[in-house]
Amino acid sequence: MFRMRFCSVCQSYTLAEAHCGAQTASAHPARFNPNDPYGGYRRTARFGV
Ligand SMILES: [Zn+2]
Repeated sequence: MFRMRFCSVCQSYTLAEAHCGAQTASAHPARFNPNDPYGGYRRTARFGV
């Protein structure tokens, strides 16, 4: 399984832990978002409030 990473320096995807002399970031966002940006919409849709 590939672990895609993203280089913020050259804006490209790579498999390297570091690229362009900088650490790369994981290209996979966290599954759970504690801010829950759609929570309000979801609750509105469910309860109709
Ligand atoms: Zn790069």
